[in-house]
Amino acid sequence: MPEARIVVLGAGPAGAATAIGLRRLGYAVTVVSQWRRFAAVEGVSQRVLDGLRHAGLGGALSQAAMPATRQVHWNGQHLQTNQEFLLDRQRFDRALRDDLQRAGVSVIGGRVCEVLHEGGHHVLLDDGQVLTADFLVEARGRQAPLAADRLRGPETVSLLNIWQGSPGAPASAVESLDDGWAWMARLEDGRCYWQVTQDAAGLPGKSGLADYCAALRARSMLVAELFDDQALVPAQVHARSSTAILAGECLGQDWIRVGDAAMAVDPLSGNGIFQSLSSALQAPVVINTLLRRPERTALARQFHQQRVEQLFLRFARIGRDFYGQEQGRANRPFWGGRQAWPDTQPLHQAADWQAVRVERRPVLHDGLVDEADVVVTADQPLGVWHLQGVELAPVVRALQAGQAVGTVLSGVPSEQQLTVRRWLVGQGVA
Ligand SMILES: Cc1cc2nc3c(=O)[nH]c(=O)nc-3n(C[C@H](O)[C@H](O)[C@H](O)COP(=O)(O)OP(=O)(O)OC[C@H]3O[C@@H](n4cnc5c(N)ncnc54)[C@H](O)[C@@H]3O)c2cc1C
Repeated sequence: MPEARIVVLGAGPAGAATAIGLRRLGYAVTVVSQWRRFAAVEGVSQRVLDGLRHAGLGGALSQAAMPATRQVHWNGQHLQTNQEFLLDRQRFDRALRDDLQRAGVSVIGGRVCEVLHEGGHHVLLDDGQVLTADFLVEARGRQAPLAADRLRGPETVSLLNIWQGSPGAPASAVESLDDGWAWMARLEDGRCYWQVTQDAAGLPGKSGLADYCAALRARSMLVAELFDDQALVPAQVHARSSTAILAGECLGQDWIRVGDAAMAVDPLSGNGIFQSLSSALQAPVVINTLLRRPERTALARQFHQQRVEQLFLRFARIGRDFYGQEQGRANRPFWGGRQAWPDTQPLHQAADWQAVRVERRPVLHDGLVDEADVVVTADQPLGVWHLQGVELAPVVRALQAGQAVGTVLSGVPSEQQLTVRRWLVGQGVA
């Protein structure tokens, strides 16, 4: 079988992680992307840094991530929290290309103007080049064309303000405002970022945005603490949508959506890069299955789509609960709307042993999507296959058939036994 020509659109973290994952499976991959046009800084946790390194993007990180102390002003309380890492996105995105090239991925710089899907995919670039692909990975983030969305949060805009202040120790902060919230950061070299996120409706026109933002900064104690007087001067503003969006179909026979192109979360969750990586890390195996075992397309679709949707809802609920902590402002439209979206379902479902069941579900096995018996619980609707190497379905079946825990686990080494016993107690098994 001739090797499939795989083209990835977009070299953000999701496109880059997918391309490197495909290279690791032995595929030839071309990534086409335009450069990020505006300077932005984003906050990420240690967990995200670990995930990016694991995905083969450590080189980019070493050039663009710096630790910073972080404060939170929320619901009238001031918390001096631990630390976050500030990611200089322009530098990071530029360095992603080096990681890609080091991994053997061919990288083309250019803007994708159009994609035609007739007899394969034909990608038209702004310089007139046409790339032909047998398989297409859509990773253009929020700029990816959306055929249909399945779920959309309250329409939200983030206004990023950038200016140069005095050098100092890197620091960041988050604070709630009457009609939104602000995230701010100062880098060691004095570059300053302040970003307000609020309802898309009711903003002043473009020419009034810089003054509007400067007036908000003038009322903030945190701004006074973090920045010098330059913060009070109207600055350069870059507006971007930050509405939470879950795309409709995320997978077809010869295409897949990953990262923000599949689901873009509210920046309040602080997990945008993390969730974009999650869908990208599973994508290579899903693509491998579509190419090598086309008869498993339905299974692969179920695997990718369900995980994307579950993750989206999980982060939407995390965001909702964080908005919910701001009790004093529940009657303001910005807060009221977000405290009730996407639903009222708790983030974690209570354990209920009676509801635990064994079902056939897609799993990843030997570089392919396969099907196996997994244990489905209220809190793990996608199912758990193994727990520290122990297959759970036979354990649950035996217990439900009336066998004693000790008997069921008798052949399992003691360390794993302990993990399974803890899990069983968590499920309400006495
Ligand atoms: C206001 C805001 C604040 C955020 N803050 C944080 C934060 O603090 N922490 C965090 O973890 N996440 C944050 N995020 C989310 C984070 O930016 C995204 O989740 C993450 O970058 C998604 O990665 P991606 O690879 O899917 O898409 P992107 O990073 O958007 O990458 C898409 C790539 O495709 C390219 N591209 C787009 N269109 C074309 C085209 N037509 N032709 C060629 N190339 C194209 C782009 O240039 C880019 O390189 C924030 C998002 C927003 C909107």
